[in-house]
Amino acid sequence: MLRAVITGAREAKLVETTVPSPKEHWALVRVTVAPMCTEYKQWLAGTPGEYLGHEAVGEVVETAQPGRVRVGDRVVVQPLYACGSCPVCVQGEHIHCEEGPTPAAFTGSREGSATMAEYLLKPDWLLSRIPPDVSDEDAALALCTLGPSFGAFQRIELRAHETVLITGLGPVGLGAVANAVFRGARVLAVESNPFRAERARELGAEQVFDPSDPETPARLRALNSPIDCAVDCSGSPAAHRLLIDSVRRKGRIAFVGECSQDTVIRISPDLIRKGLTLIGSWHYNLAEFPRLLQVIRRLSNRELLVSHRFPLAEIQTAFETLAGQETAKVLLTTR
Ligand SMILES: [Zn+2]
Ligand SMILES: [Zn+2]
Repeated sequence: MLRAVITGAREAKLVETTVPSPKEHWALVRVTVAPMCTEYKQWLAGTPGEYLGHEAVGEVVETAQPGRVRVGDRVVVQPLYACGSCPVCVQGEHIHCEEGPTPAAFTGSREGSATMAEYLLKPDWLLSRIPPDVSDEDAALALCTLGPSFGAFQRIELRAHETVLITGLGPVGLGAVANAVFRGARVLAVESNPFRAERARELGAEQVFDPSDPETPARLRALNSPIDCAVDCSGSPAAHRLLIDSVRRKGRIAFVGECSQDTVIRISPDLIRKGLTLIGSWHYNLAEFPRLLQVIRRLSNRELLVSHRFPLAEIQTAFETLAGQETAKVLLTTR
Protein backbone atom coordinates (compact mmCIF):
# COMPACT_ATOMS: atom_id res chain seq x y z
CA MET A 1 0.00 0.00 0.00
CA LEU A 2 0.99 3.65 -0.35
CA ARG A 3 1.40 6.13 2.51
CA ALA A 4 2.29 9.85 2.40
CA VAL A 5 5.37 11.11 4.26
CA ILE A 6 6.99 14.50 4.83
CA THR A 7 10.71 14.26 4.02
CA GLY A 8 11.83 17.88 4.52
CA ALA A 9 10.80 21.52 4.20
CA ARG A 10 8.01 21.69 1.60
CA GLU A 11 8.72 18.10 0.55
CA ALA A 12 6.23 15.24 0.66
CA LYS A 13 6.03 11.98 -1.25
CA LEU A 14 4.47 8.52 -1.12
CA VAL A 15 6.25 5.45 0.18
CA GLU A 16 5.35 1.81 -0.45
CA THR A 17 4.67 -0.15 2.71
CA THR A 18 2.85 -3.27 3.90
CA VAL A 19 -0.88 -3.37 4.70
CA PRO A 20 -1.27 -3.76 8.50
CA SER A 21 -3.35 -6.54 10.07
CA PRO A 22 -6.19 -5.93 12.53
CA LYS A 23 -6.22 -7.59 15.96
CA GLU A 24 -9.05 -8.17 18.43
CA HIS A 25 -11.69 -5.40 18.05
CA TRP A 26 -9.68 -3.31 15.58
CA ALA A 27 -10.71 -3.12 11.91
CA LEU A 28 -8.76 -2.56 8.70
CA VAL A 29 -10.21 0.34 6.70
CA ARG A 30 -9.46 1.12 3.06
CA VAL A 31 -9.31 4.91 2.99
CA THR A 32 -11.40 6.59 0.29
CA VAL A 33 -11.20 10.22 1.46
CA ALA A 34 -8.55 11.75 3.73
CA PRO A 35 -9.35 15.40 4.51
CA MET A 36 -6.23 17.50 5.09
CA CYS A 37 -6.03 19.50 8.31
CA THR A 38 -3.07 21.13 10.07
CA GLU A 39 -0.38 18.82 8.67
CA TYR A 40 0.65 21.52 6.17
CA LYS A 41 2.30 23.41 9.05
CA GLN A 42 4.61 20.43 9.55
CA TRP A 43 5.23 20.35 5.78
CA LEU A 44 6.14 24.06 5.84
CA ALA A 45 8.42 23.64 8.87
CA GLY A 46 10.14 20.61 7.38
CA THR A 47 9.61 18.41 10.42
CA PRO A 48 9.86 14.87 9.01
CA GLY A 49 6.63 12.93 9.39
CA GLU A 50 6.10 9.24 8.70
CA TYR A 51 2.46 8.88 9.81
CA LEU A 52 0.31 11.81 8.73
CA GLY A 53 -3.30 12.78 9.29
CA HIS A 54 -6.17 12.19 11.70
CA GLU A 55 -9.22 12.48 9.40
CA ALA A 56 -10.52 9.74 7.13
CA VAL A 57 -13.54 8.10 5.57
CA GLY A 58 -13.32 4.62 4.14
CA GLU A 59 -14.63 1.09 3.83
CA VAL A 60 -14.07 -1.71 6.33
CA VAL A 61 -12.19 -4.45 4.46
CA GLU A 62 -11.14 -6.78 7.31
CA THR A 63 -12.03 -7.42 10.94
CA ALA A 64 -10.20 -9.73 13.32
CA GLN A 65 -13.39 -10.82 15.09
CA PRO A 66 -17.14 -10.08 14.92
CA GLY A 67 -17.76 -6.61 16.36
CA ARG A 68 -19.46 -3.30 15.82
CA VAL A 69 -18.59 -3.06 12.12
CA ARG A 70 -18.64 -5.54 9.24
CA VAL A 71 -16.65 -5.90 6.06
CA GLY A 72 -18.23 -3.56 3.50
CA ASP A 73 -19.40 -0.93 5.99
CA ARG A 74 -18.59 2.63 4.95
CA VAL A 75 -17.36 4.55 7.99
CA VAL A 76 -16.21 7.89 9.30
CA VAL A 77 -12.92 7.22 11.08
CA GLN A 78 -13.06 9.29 14.27
CA PRO A 79 -9.85 11.17 15.14
CA LEU A 80 -7.23 9.89 17.60
CA TYR A 81 -7.24 6.75 19.75
CA ALA A 82 -9.02 6.28 23.06
CA CYS A 83 -9.42 3.54 25.67
CA GLY A 84 -13.19 3.08 25.30
CA SER A 85 -13.75 2.39 28.99
CA CYS A 86 -12.78 5.45 31.08
CA PRO A 87 -15.52 7.88 32.23
CA VAL A 88 -15.02 10.34 29.35
CA CYS A 89 -15.03 7.55 26.74
CA VAL A 90 -18.22 6.05 28.20
CA GLN A 91 -19.82 9.50 27.96
CA GLY A 92 -19.01 9.67 24.23
CA GLU A 93 -16.21 12.19 24.76
CA HIS A 94 -13.41 9.93 23.49
CA ILE A 95 -11.43 12.93 22.23
CA HIS A 96 -10.57 13.82 25.84
CA CYS A 97 -9.43 10.31 26.85
CA GLU A 98 -6.03 10.19 28.53
CA GLU A 99 -5.64 6.42 28.32
CA GLY A 100 -5.75 5.81 24.58
CA PRO A 101 -3.80 2.83 23.24
CA THR A 102 -0.98 3.61 20.86
CA PRO A 103 -1.30 1.55 17.68
CA ALA A 104 2.38 0.57 17.98
CA ALA A 105 1.89 -0.84 21.47
CA PHE A 106 -1.20 -2.72 20.36
CA THR A 107 -0.27 -4.00 16.91
CA GLY A 108 3.53 -3.92 17.16
CA SER A 109 3.85 -1.24 14.50
CA ARG A 110 2.75 2.34 13.82
CA GLU A 111 1.61 1.14 10.40
CA GLY A 112 -2.11 1.80 10.20
CA SER A 113 -2.08 4.94 12.34
CA ALA A 114 -1.90 7.39 9.40
CA THR A 115 -4.97 8.58 7.51
CA MET A 116 -2.97 9.88 4.52
CA ALA A 117 -2.51 6.30 3.38
CA GLU A 118 -4.43 3.65 1.48
CA TYR A 119 -5.25 1.61 4.62
CA LEU A 120 -5.52 2.28 8.35
CA LEU A 121 -6.39 0.43 11.57
CA LYS A 122 -8.90 1.65 14.13
CA PRO A 123 -10.81 0.25 17.11
CA ASP A 124 -14.28 -0.60 15.76
CA TRP A 125 -16.09 1.66 18.22
CA LEU A 126 -14.31 4.69 16.71
CA LEU A 127 -15.79 3.90 13.28
CA SER A 128 -19.12 5.70 12.76
CA ARG A 129 -21.23 3.96 10.09
CA ILE A 130 -22.32 6.07 7.10
CA PRO A 131 -25.92 5.58 5.91
CA PRO A 132 -26.48 4.73 2.21
CA ASP A 133 -27.85 8.17 1.29
CA VAL A 134 -24.70 10.02 2.40
CA SER A 135 -21.63 9.96 0.13
CA ASP A 136 -18.10 9.40 1.42
CA GLU A 137 -17.14 13.01 0.63
CA ASP A 138 -20.19 14.42 2.41
CA ALA A 139 -19.57 12.15 5.41
CA ALA A 140 -16.02 13.52 5.58
CA LEU A 141 -17.54 16.88 6.55
CA ALA A 142 -18.25 15.25 9.95
CA LEU A 143 -14.53 15.52 10.73
CA CYS A 144 -12.68 18.88 11.06
CA THR A 145 -15.02 20.75 8.72
CA LEU A 146 -18.42 20.71 10.45
CA GLY A 147 -17.44 18.61 13.47
CA PRO A 148 -15.62 21.00 15.82
CA SER A 149 -18.13 23.87 15.54
CA PHE A 150 -21.10 21.47 15.68
CA GLY A 151 -19.78 20.30 19.05
CA ALA A 152 -19.17 23.89 20.16
CA PHE A 153 -22.65 25.13 19.15
CA GLN A 154 -24.30 22.18 20.89
CA ARG A 155 -22.49 23.15 24.09
CA ILE A 156 -23.04 26.93 23.96
CA GLU A 157 -26.57 26.34 22.64
CA LEU A 158 -26.59 28.73 19.69
CA ARG A 159 -30.21 29.60 18.89
CA ALA A 160 -31.94 30.89 15.76
CA HIS A 161 -32.65 34.41 17.03
CA GLU A 162 -29.07 35.02 18.12
CA THR A 163 -26.05 36.78 16.61
CA VAL A 164 -22.80 34.80 16.53
CA LEU A 165 -19.28 36.07 15.79
CA ILE A 166 -16.75 33.64 14.27
CA THR A 167 -13.03 34.48 14.14
CA GLY A 168 -10.75 32.62 11.70
CA LEU A 169 -12.23 31.24 8.47
CA GLY A 170 -10.03 28.29 7.65
CA PRO A 171 -11.91 25.04 6.91
CA VAL A 172 -13.07 24.78 10.55
CA GLY A 173 -14.22 28.42 10.62
CA LEU A 174 -16.08 28.03 7.32
CA GLY A 175 -17.71 24.95 8.83
CA ALA A 176 -18.72 27.12 11.80
CA VAL A 177 -20.35 29.62 9.44
CA ALA A 178 -22.28 26.80 7.77
CA ASN A 179 -23.38 25.30 11.11
CA ALA A 180 -24.48 28.70 12.44
CA VAL A 181 -26.43 29.61 9.27
CA PHE A 182 -28.04 26.16 9.38
CA ARG A 183 -29.23 26.92 12.91
CA GLY A 184 -30.80 30.16 11.72
CA ALA A 185 -28.43 32.51 13.51
CA ARG A 186 -27.18 35.86 12.23
CA VAL A 187 -23.52 35.23 11.41
CA LEU A 188 -20.69 37.76 11.57
CA ALA A 189 -17.08 36.78 10.98
CA VAL A 190 -13.53 38.11 11.19
CA GLU A 191 -10.96 37.09 8.57
CA SER A 192 -8.27 38.84 6.51
CA ASN A 193 -7.92 36.27 3.69
CA PRO A 194 -10.13 37.55 0.81
CA PHE A 195 -10.81 34.07 -0.63
CA ARG A 196 -12.01 32.74 2.69
CA ALA A 197 -13.99 35.90 3.53
CA GLU A 198 -15.82 35.62 0.20
CA ARG A 199 -16.47 31.90 0.76
CA ALA A 200 -18.00 32.76 4.16
CA ARG A 201 -20.31 35.32 2.55
CA GLU A 202 -21.37 32.68 0.00
CA LEU A 203 -22.14 30.37 2.92
CA GLY A 204 -24.42 33.00 4.43
CA ALA A 205 -22.27 35.19 6.68
CA GLU A 206 -23.90 38.63 6.83
CA GLN A 207 -20.65 40.56 7.21
CA VAL A 208 -16.93 39.70 7.38
CA PHE A 209 -14.70 42.14 9.26
CA ASP A 210 -10.96 42.62 8.68
CA PRO A 211 -8.90 41.90 11.83
CA SER A 212 -6.14 44.29 10.65
CA ASP A 213 -8.59 47.23 10.47
CA PRO A 214 -8.21 49.24 13.72
CA GLU A 215 -11.91 50.17 13.51
CA THR A 216 -13.11 46.53 13.70
CA PRO A 217 -13.41 46.31 17.54
CA ALA A 218 -15.41 49.56 17.69
CA ARG A 219 -17.66 48.47 14.80
CA LEU A 220 -18.41 45.18 16.55
CA ARG A 221 -19.32 46.95 19.77
CA ALA A 222 -21.56 49.41 17.90
CA LEU A 223 -23.78 46.80 16.21
CA ASN A 224 -27.52 47.43 16.45
CA SER A 225 -28.05 44.03 18.06
CA PRO A 226 -25.48 42.63 20.46
CA ILE A 227 -23.29 39.60 19.82
CA ASP A 228 -24.74 36.78 21.91
CA CYS A 229 -22.04 34.21 21.42
CA ALA A 230 -18.84 33.54 19.55
CA VAL A 231 -16.52 30.82 18.33
CA ASP A 232 -12.80 31.26 17.76
CA CYS A 233 -11.34 29.10 15.00
CA SER A 234 -8.16 31.13 14.57
CA GLY A 235 -6.13 30.17 17.64
CA SER A 236 -4.95 33.78 17.91
CA PRO A 237 -4.77 35.56 21.31
CA ALA A 238 -5.78 38.81 19.56
CA ALA A 239 -8.94 37.10 18.31
CA HIS A 240 -9.60 35.69 21.78
CA ARG A 241 -9.47 39.21 23.22
CA LEU A 242 -11.64 40.58 20.42
CA LEU A 243 -14.33 38.00 21.22
CA ILE A 244 -14.18 38.59 24.98
CA ASP A 245 -14.54 42.34 24.40
CA SER A 246 -17.22 42.05 21.69
CA VAL A 247 -19.85 39.67 23.06
CA ARG A 248 -22.62 41.04 25.22
CA ARG A 249 -22.85 40.65 28.97
CA LYS A 250 -23.68 37.01 29.86
CA GLY A 251 -22.47 35.97 26.41
CA ARG A 252 -20.96 32.54 25.59
CA ILE A 253 -17.66 31.90 23.81
CA ALA A 254 -16.21 28.60 22.58
CA PHE A 255 -12.52 28.32 21.75
CA VAL A 256 -12.04 25.78 18.98
CA GLY A 257 -8.80 26.85 17.26
CA GLU A 258 -5.69 25.30 18.80
CA CYS A 259 -3.34 27.88 20.32
CA SER A 260 0.24 27.49 21.57
CA GLN A 261 0.41 30.96 23.12
CA ASP A 262 -1.12 32.29 26.34
CA THR A 263 -4.23 34.48 26.27
CA VAL A 264 -4.79 36.87 29.18
CA ILE A 265 -8.26 36.53 30.71
CA ARG A 266 -9.11 39.07 33.43
CA ILE A 267 -11.14 37.26 36.04
CA SER A 268 -13.05 40.24 37.45
CA PRO A 269 -13.93 42.36 34.40
CA ASP A 270 -14.20 39.51 31.87
CA LEU A 271 -15.75 36.73 33.89
CA ILE A 272 -17.27 37.86 37.19
CA ARG A 273 -18.62 41.24 36.16
CA LYS A 274 -19.35 40.56 32.50
CA GLY A 275 -20.71 37.13 33.34
CA LEU A 276 -19.18 35.39 30.33
CA THR A 277 -19.20 31.64 29.83
CA LEU A 278 -15.95 30.50 28.19
CA ILE A 279 -15.44 26.92 27.03
CA GLY A 280 -12.85 24.99 25.07
CA SER A 281 -14.32 22.60 22.50
CA TRP A 282 -12.36 20.08 20.41
CA HIS A 283 -14.81 17.65 18.77
CA TYR A 284 -18.39 16.51 19.35
CA ASN A 285 -19.93 13.85 21.53
CA LEU A 286 -19.99 10.60 19.50
CA ALA A 287 -23.66 10.07 20.45
CA GLU A 288 -24.44 13.17 18.38
CA PHE A 289 -23.04 11.77 15.12
CA PRO A 290 -26.59 11.07 13.79
CA ARG A 291 -27.57 14.70 14.42
CA LEU A 292 -24.48 15.91 12.58
CA LEU A 293 -25.46 13.63 9.68
CA GLN A 294 -28.82 15.43 9.60
CA VAL A 295 -27.01 18.75 9.26
CA ILE A 296 -24.90 17.33 6.41
CA ARG A 297 -27.94 15.92 4.59
CA ARG A 298 -29.89 19.17 4.78
CA LEU A 299 -27.04 21.64 4.17
CA SER A 300 -27.87 22.62 0.60
CA ASN A 301 -24.65 24.56 -0.05
CA ARG A 302 -22.29 22.03 1.53
CA GLU A 303 -20.23 21.84 -1.68
CA LEU A 304 -18.83 25.28 -0.74
CA LEU A 305 -17.03 23.71 2.22
CA VAL A 306 -14.64 21.76 -0.03
CA SER A 307 -12.52 23.64 -2.58
CA HIS A 308 -9.98 21.09 -3.81
CA ARG A 309 -9.60 17.34 -4.30
CA PHE A 310 -6.30 15.63 -5.09
CA PRO A 311 -5.45 11.97 -5.58
CA LEU A 312 -3.14 10.75 -2.78
CA ALA A 313 -0.38 10.49 -5.40
CA GLU A 314 -0.48 14.29 -5.74
CA ILE A 315 0.35 14.86 -2.06
CA GLN A 316 3.04 17.43 -2.86
CA THR A 317 0.66 19.58 -4.94
CA ALA A 318 -2.04 19.16 -2.28
CA PHE A 319 0.27 20.53 0.44
CA GLU A 320 1.37 23.42 -1.81
CA THR A 321 -2.26 24.31 -2.48
CA LEU A 322 -3.35 24.16 1.17
CA ALA A 323 -0.32 26.17 2.34
CA GLY A 324 -1.33 28.85 -0.19
CA GLN A 325 -4.48 29.39 1.95
CA GLU A 326 -6.77 30.06 -1.04
CA THR A 327 -8.78 27.01 -0.07
CA ALA A 328 -11.72 25.75 1.89
CA LYS A 329 -11.30 22.07 2.88
CA VAL A 330 -8.82 20.06 0.77
CA LEU A 331 -9.49 16.34 0.30
CA LEU A 332 -7.10 13.55 -0.63
CA THR A 333 -8.83 10.77 -2.50
CA THR A 334 -7.69 7.25 -3.27
CA ARG A 335 -9.92 6.38 -6.19
ZN1 LIG B 1 -10.87 6.60 27.63
ZN1 LIG C 1 -8.49 17.79 11.65
